[in-house]
Amino acid sequence: MYMYPRPIARLIEELSKLPGIGPKTAQRLAFYLISGSSERVHGLAHALLEAKEKIVYCSVCFNYTDDDPCRICAAESRDPSLICVVEYPRDVVAVERTREYKGRYHVLHGAISPMEGIGPAQLRIRELIQRCTDETVKEVILATDPDPEGEATALYLARLLKPSGVRVTRMAHGMPVGGDLEYVDEVTLARALEGRRELN
Ligand SMILES: [Zn+2]
Repeated sequence: MYMYPRPIARLIEELSKLPGIGPKTAQRLAFYLISGSSERVHGLAHALLEAKEKIVYCSVCFNYTDDDPCRICAAESRDPSLICVVEYPRDVVAVERTREYKGRYHVLHGAISPMEGIGPAQLRIRELIQRCTDETVKEVILATDPDPEGEATALYLARLLKPSGVRVTRMAHGMPVGGDLEYVDEVTLARALEGRRELN
């Protein structure tokens, strides 16, 4: 039986650990990389290392940034009274694509999921509550995914935020149930944000 030379086998193994990459795709990517120029591989390796080394969490919203606080938190044009709470940094990109939202964000880095052993302590919830003690914050929009974990997280946060007196809203219906925020088209997402309703 033919076995790959060790460096190729290792490259395939590492690539197949990436999300959405099966063994076949990993193999195709490995051969693509090897067959190309050294510059291309160096470019990719450099981009990977640079992203890993230079990207940190924004100390305010916990989005990824290469500048702390991030550009959105630092921008005077963004409304500090409004915080949109999302699960992942990619969701910030999704909401930004609508070009409708002018407030700031808070990235939880996940959703409450007892099945996966993820509780409130593993998410940036304490930091969100802390932010809401600031009087400038008037409304928190809960834009967690419209799936069971996202809904449970939104309800949990709504209860937790109630004593702070800020208005707590949830994106409107019309979002695909069980969907992932990042895959919702801009128009639907903009409408869901626009038609947000208060959570009691
Ligand atoms: Zn930020």
